[in-house]
Amino acid sequence: MSPQWILIGVLILGVYFFFIKKKPLNSVKQTKKKEDTKESDEMVACKKCGTYTSLDEALLSNGNYYCSDECLKA
Ligand SMILES: [Zn+2]
Repeated sequence: MSPQWILIGVLILGVYFFFIKKKPLNSVKQTKKKEDTKESDEMVACKKCGTYTSLDEALLSNGNYYCSDECLKA
């Protein structure tokens, strides 16, 4: 293989990934967003006071969920 072909190959790959990667990335983002929405519906109990908080608002520490900083520090 001559260096020219490698350069052309790299260029083609670069263009390919630049254009093709954008689409899958967007669909991945959308899928992730859907999952996030799903997760936000999930409720977890605070380890300290037992208050139920949505998963995306809950604070995760050492595998336990807490409703607020106060419970986390307590
Ligand atoms: Zn709490």
